[in-house]
Amino acid sequence: MSFPVRLRAAANAINLSTAAGLLLAKLTHTRVEKGPHGLIFGTNYQPRLPLAGAFTVGNVIFYRTDRVHIDARPDLLAHESRHATQYAWCLGLPFFPLYGACAAYSLWRTGDPGSRNFFERNAGLALGGYRELPTIARLPALRNQLRRLAFVKPPAISAGQSQKET
Ligand SMILES: [Zn+2]
Repeated sequence: MSFPVRLRAAANAINLSTAAGLLLAKLTHTRVEKGPHGLIFGTNYQPRLPLAGAFTVGNVIFYRTDRVHIDARPDLLAHESRHATQYAWCLGLPFFPLYGACAAYSLWRTGDPGSRNFFERNAGLALGGYRELPTIARLPALRNQLRRLAFVKPPAISAGQSQKET
């Protein structure tokens, strides 16, 4: 193993994110096996959530498929491996709220949780099966709506109407 790979494995061991991944594997009865680059594969992951074909917790990469399919997708492994590195940079479990904030931002900007998500872009959008989507111009629409509200005069009440109401 290269020094950066060993450093990542050590960081994710110390920050307990790999332990969290192994605990998740245990709780979900997911089989684990040794992968390349100090990574651990959780194969045939069954629970419905998260809605992803693969996801990473520390140095543990969970797949919904078996090893044959994993080995046939080196692009996806490269993507998930970068997420393992991101856990090390985030000092472990702070990855979750940071990732969630970036996913929410991406969802607001593009309608997709991955397209403008820093973590997915850093891991490689195409490698992870994401598409680069155009941003939705929300601020001009909001500005126009505020202008319309500011310039619309309330309906005038005529003298006849006010007499009927009293
Ligand atoms: Zn990803």
